[in-house]
Amino acid sequence: MKVQKVMVIGAGQMGSGIAQVCAMAGYNVLLHDLKQEYLDRGFMTITKNLTRQVDKGRMSEEDKASTLERLMPSLDLQNAGDVDLVIEAAVENMDIKTKLFSQLDEIAPQNAILATNTSSLPITEIAAATKRPEKVIGMHFMNPVPVMKLVEIIRGLATADEVYQVIEDMTKTLNKVPVEVNDFPGFVSNRILMPMINEAIYTLYEGVATKEAIDEVMKLGMNHPMGPLTLADFIGLDTCLYIMETLHEGFGDDKYRPCPLLRKYVKAGWLGKKSGRGFYTYKE
Ligand code: NAD
Repeated sequence: MKVQKVMVIGAGQMGSGIAQVCAMAGYNVLLHDLKQEYLDRGFMTITKNLTRQVDKGRMSEEDKASTLERLMPSLDLQNAGDVDLVIEAAVENMDIKTKLFSQLDEIAPQNAILATNTSSLPITEIAAATKRPEKVIGMHFMNPVPVMKLVEIIRGLATADEVYQVIEDMTKTLNKVPVEVNDFPGFVSNRILMPMINEAIYTLYEGVATKEAIDEVMKLGMNHPMGPLTLADFIGLDTCLYIMETLHEGFGDDKYRPCPLLRKYVKAGWLGKKSGRGFYTYKE
């Protein structure tokens, strides 16, 4: 099977990046979201990213124009009727994802592959919402998608070998490096990363140090490119909380309990960079 047309669901931080790299690699891409304003924001981000590439001399004006031409907006899920692959990047919430997958199962062609960019939710459970669990797979891109090389490819319990192969090959065409992972909460990346971020939040919560000091220690002491609290803001504190809850519930182990300060910030709507405020404040 050859992938030619892709639908990306969710025009947020991840979905817009995934749509961008797919279009840059020559795929025809439908970028789908719930409201026009979300699509506008996603398309604005993509255009800005491509313009920066042109300014830096890494992309020609022609390539920018043809990449944008391959991108089409979608507000109707029925548009999935003629795609080869769907990559879902809506919010990290099992109810929303299972509802989307059961609808997509009805709409997308029989042989289409349904992938999810979930950071932590079980692929097997998402697949069970469809009648094609063998064609459901995890494609976990890293943030920011146009920059980061890794894609964790996660097999659900029923994922077929040939589906895995199509997705691994397709990932390479995006100039990314696929790494095969089995379906356990948080996979590899967030099983290791998110408890570290949660512990950094506890360190702040318990008054061990200021946010700046915590970030500085991890940057200068561990050679991390950014501190864990800055990274949490960048990922989105709502996403961080969902992932910690998934680890907590999935393993039934209190070592994964989310820090109360993280819950408080999410309840306040302080979601990090995307909302203008998290541990730090951000100007547009
Ligand atoms: P985001 O909040 O920036 O974007 C989510 C988008 O999905 C929004 O535009 C929203 O309107 C849209 N959406 C919500 N419900 C929808 C529906 N039913 N149909 C269509 N669109 C819908 O979130 P994000 O950071 O882009 O995360 C998206 C997914 O990617 C999540 O599953 C997250 O766990 C995963 N992920 C995030 C990161 C990260 O660093 N933020 C990294 C890897 C994976």
